Amino acid sequence: MTHLDAYSRSISYLRISVTDRCNLRCIYCMPPEGVPLRTHDEILRYEEIENVARAAAGLGICKVRLTGGEPLVRLGIVDLVRKLAHIPGIDDLSMTTNGILLPRYAADLATAGLRRVNISLDTLRPERFAAITRRGRLTDVLAAIESARQAGLRPVKINTVVIRGINDDEAVDLARRAADAGWNLRFIEWMPVGGVALAGGDWQEQVVTAAEIRRQIEVALGPLEPATLDIGGGPARYYRLPGGRGTIGFIAPISEHFCGQCNRLRLTADGQLRPCLLSDYEIDLRAPLRRGADAAQIRALLLKGIGSKPLQHRLNEKERPEHRVMSEIGG
Ligand code: SAM
Repeated sequence: MTHLDAYSRSISYLRISVTDRCNLRCIYCMPPEGVPLRTHDEILRYEEIENVARAAAGLGICKVRLTGGEPLVRLGIVDLVRKLAHIPGIDDLSMTTNGILLPRYAADLATAGLRRVNISLDTLRPERFAAITRRGRLTDVLAAIESARQAGLRPVKINTVVIRGINDDEAVDLARRAADAGWNLRFIEWMPVGGVALAGGDWQEQVVTAAEIRRQIEVALGPLEPATLDIGGGPARYYRLPGGRGTIGFIAPISEHFCGQCNRLRLTADGQLRPCLLSDYEIDLRAPLRRGADAAQIRALLLKGIGSKPLQHRLNEKERPEHRVMSEIGG
């Protein structure tokens, strides 16, 4: 049975960041100088992550997503997937990845019990891709999408963060590609996290709202029809172009926040439980885990996290989470 928080939201979802390391340096996620990396010792060991996941499953959490940093850069990730997939009660195990290493791991991840992946892709232009990620190659991500499909990691969802002056002129091209290629693409509003500043003014001016993107697409390609994507049940609203194969989703944490439906907890790579992505409040699980906390004690800390979830984020009142960048929290 799932647990309700103080605002009657049912908490069924745990996002686990397995590493703070990443093989890309996306300009909106990390500052140019990078972030100081945690030492090996500061990062939760796999058995500690497994203990937390097991305790979470005992509280009715049935959905787990692995993220990072980049989850595929951590050695032994397939073994972790296999362990988590065997925990009774966890019935939807997924991963968010930039895809760079996915072709190497997709088949093994699927065999180990991963059900599906979300792949990040912000542009279809090779030079722009290199500029946004500061080091990546677009062709690698396109190959990753194909490898996920072939491995049966479905549905593959594509995450596209839209930022004014960076890639907001590509919404129509991306929507068209989603329709033609059968992608489940989701446009995500950029969130100001960890003091990452982008050139060009206030963060409010850099956010491109879901409504604005939708308008651009409808002006160019015609009205979108409501659609559903059965699996995941996340905050995206889905549409499709008439006759198109794929779906086009919108995730609008800024312009139409969905805090009222928030069902998640987050665990950072260094073992901090974060009840809200956009609040710096965290509960330390690592020290208790290393003191030998048993399942009941971990469950009690998770319940404290559930009980501490705020009613909603306060970004629009100029409260910004400053302590960590997105690559540390896991997005
Ligand atoms: N490395 C993996 C990846 O690229 O998908 C997983 C970690 S990444 C932090 C998870 C997701 O967060 C990605 O889809 C990324 O685009 C998104 N993201 C990062 N910073 C963001 C921000 N400031 N606002 C909105 N989404 C962001």
